[in-house]
Order: sequence, then C-alpha cells, then structure tokens
Amino acid sequence: MIRKTYLPGATIFFEGQPADCAYIVERGQVEICAVRDRTHITLATLGQGEIFGEMAVLDDGVRSAEARAVQETEVLIIRSDQLRRRILEAEPIVGQVLSSLIKRFRQAQTGLLSDLPTRMGTSHVVMPNANCDEIGSSGAALEWLLREYDLERGLAACEFVPFFQPIVMIEDRSIAGFEALARWRHPERGLVPPSEFIDLGERCGLIRHIDLAIIAEACRLLRQATPVGATPFLSVNLSAQHFTDFGVVASLSKILSDTGFDPAHLKVELTETALVQDPRKAHEVLTQIKGLGVTIALDDFGTGYSSLSYLHSFPFDVLKIDQSFVRQLGKPGRTHDIVETIIMLANRMGMLVVAEGIETPDLIPPLQQLGCTFGQGYHYSRPVPASELAGLLAR
Ligand code: C2E
Ligand code: CA
Ligand code: CA
Ligand code: CA
Repeated sequence: MIRKTYLPGATIFFEGQPADCAYIVERGQVEICAVRDRTHITLATLGQGEIFGEMAVLDDGVRSAEARAVQETEVLIIRSDQLRRRILEAEPIVGQVLSSLIKRFRQAQTGLLSDLPTRMGTSHVVMPNANCDEIGSSGAALEWLLREYDLERGLAACEFVPFFQPIVMIEDRSIAGFEALARWRHPERGLVPPSEFIDLGERCGLIRHIDLAIIAEACRLLRQATPVGATPFLSVNLSAQHFTDFGVVASLSKILSDTGFDPAHLKVELTETALVQDPRKAHEVLTQIKGLGVTIALDDFGTGYSSLSYLHSFPFDVLKIDQSFVRQLGKPGRTHDIVETIIMLANRMGMLVVAEGIETPDLIPPLQQLGCTFGQGYHYSRPVPASELAGLLAR
C-alpha cells in the first residue's frame, strides 16, 4: 500500500513497535508523542510535506515515540527497503555519518525523555522538533518516492514496451537486425523516452526488471513479425546492474525458451560501465551469456572509458561506435583518424562494427571505405513500434 488515511486521534504507530516504514504527511496533521510517568509529552506536530518515522527504519530499530493523527490525515508510506537501498547506494561515508547521527539522536532522546516529566512537572509538555528521532523534513523526497511508485506501477501494468530501430548493412541498406529500445506508454504522460526513466530505474533497482520486460516482449514481437526464412537479429540493452550476479543468465535462458527466439539471433548490448566495477565477475557473466548461444556487443564505444584493454580481454562479437564519434567522420581532425583506427582494430580482432547515429547520407561512403559493416540511425529509420515491423521488413 502506498497511501493510508487516518481518522482524528488514530494511532499511526506505537512506541516500541518494530519499524518497517517511514511516512510523509500528504494532508492533515500528525503528533509525535510519548508518555512518561503518565505525562503526555508532545515531541512535535507535523504538517504537509514533513517526514517522520525514518530513524527507526534506518537503524532497524523500534519506534521510540508514538505517532497519531491530529486531524484526518493522509500519509504516503516509504518502505524500509526503499530507504535503505538509497543509503547503501550512497557513498560509504554518507552511511557512516548517518549511523553515527542516529546513535547520537538515540542517546540524546533517551536522556531527554527520562528527565522530562520530573523536570517540567506538568502533564503536557511540548518540545521543539529537533530532538526527536521520529521526525525529519522533506520536499524532494516526496517527488522521488512518487516517481518510484509510478515506475513500479507501470512495470506491473506492462506499460514498458520495446520500439525497434533497424540496424542495416551499410553496403546495400538491407535490414540485418533491430535494436529494441524501451519506451514507457504512460497513461497520463504519453510515450515517455528512456532519458526520463532509465536513471530512476537504476537508482531504485528496478532497471533489471525493465530490461527483462523489454527483452521478453521484443523477442516475442520480433518473432511474431518475422516471415519464415527471414532472420533479422535482435539487439537488446542490459544495464550495468546485471553484471553483479548470474541472475541475468537464467533470466535470458528462460526468455529464450518461453518465446522460442533463436539465441543465435540475440545480441546483448552493454557499456563499459558494466565492466569497470567488477571486471572478473562481468567476464564470467558474459561468458555464461555466450554459453547460451547469444552474442555480445559493446555499446557506446568512444564515450566513457573506451579502454582498449577491454577489447581484447572480453568476448565481444560486435563493437558499436557512439554517434558522437561517427559524426566526426569526414570532418578534418584527429577524430576521423581515431574512428578509422577503431574500425580497423575491431575488424582485425574479428569483431563486426556498427556505426550509431547516422543521420545524413554523407557519412556512408567513408564508413563503407573504412570497412564498417552495419549502420544505425535516423537516416535509415527512427525507432518504430512493433506494428510497423512487418512494413519495414517487407520494404
Ligand atoms: P543507446 O543504447 O545508445 O541507443 C541509441 C539511442 O540513440 C536511442 O535513443 C536511439 O533512438 C538514438 N538514435 C538512433 N539513431 C539516432 C540518430 O540518427 N540520431 C540521434 N540523435 N539519435 C539516434 P533512445 O531510444 O532514446 O535510448 C537512449 C538510451 O537509453 C539508449 O542509448 C540506452 O542507453 C538506453 N536504453 C534504451 N532502452 C533501454 C533498455 O531497454 N534497457 C536499458 N538498460 N537501457 C535502455
Ligand atoms: Ca544500445
Ligand atoms: Ca549506443
Ligand atoms: Ca547511448
């Protein structure tokens, strides 16, 4: 559940209760309170946009105070796994600072609460917000949370669909294969491009699910649209997060058997980011993927690290040269020489080369002359929905 409504006076959590989520007030008012020696102590009163209950979630503890609705109140629930993942993904130092802050808060609060009733001697005490560990403040938090829930919802509703962009033989413009590119058919926002959800998917750990949903659907749709005899390949994108364990191997294997897609016609594209964190693991994962009969393409070559050492130490079959490089072809300058050298090197190492981002025909003669096999770009075709696949293939 994402949202919950509480009636006036209702308890949101009790003191001592194990914590599995934090809250953001969307509407209404929440009181954070504790009872000591039968004295009701109001630690804070929170309104719209404020976050509470996050500390106990972060240190896996129990609630150190009670939260109750003052008026009818609507809260947005942040699950503890959502919160913790973000801490784990942050710099190690951030995690350390945070846990030491939590410890200090806990100590301060224990002291404060045990002192208070005797010190103040009243039956109702109001404290400033700052000293209670069940309270924080937020504005942007609401934004990421809502977007993350929306992404989760979209995945469950199968709103992520592949578009297909032809990859052609430069020699004769015939279609050799397609790259599946994710699009989000959003019920309110319309067709959303990857630039607006890939980052978010990577941050909240849902990117692997998106990738696999796209791959499965692309295999199914391309198989459906392909006339008997024609064998275009399918190139799919794998985020770097797949290369930390072997889960992706089993997932790909299952997709291949479920859809009946020929593994020899599947290529997975990855960027160098997938290799740098744990090169040995990445190498093993790639080797197992190749064991399925699938081929491997290194994407966006020319951006990022572009270390030549990767080229000979990983089993790539295809090298995709990034559009920023391809555009320089034919222009005077060193980039032209670099592209030329990359293509020659790749060919020498037995890799096929795809030039990405071909927007104009003037790039074709130099690419052909340099021995580049495949081309991809708006000049040939934009990415199209599956409904246009058959038309492209009949062309
Ligand atoms: P990419 O893998 O490098 O894909 C090529 C991008 O260049 C696509 O953008 C494509 O539409 C665009 N493109 C193709 N030809 C041309 C051209 O001639 N000119 C220009 N200016 N652009 C061209 P798109 O579809 O917006 O995807 C952007 C990026 O999002 C992809 O870059 C890829 O990194 C990522 N992405 C897309 N789908 C997936 C997916 O299913 N999983 C993952 N992990 N990433 C994906
Ligand atoms: Ca790609
Ligand atoms: Ca690319
Ligand atoms: Ca790219």
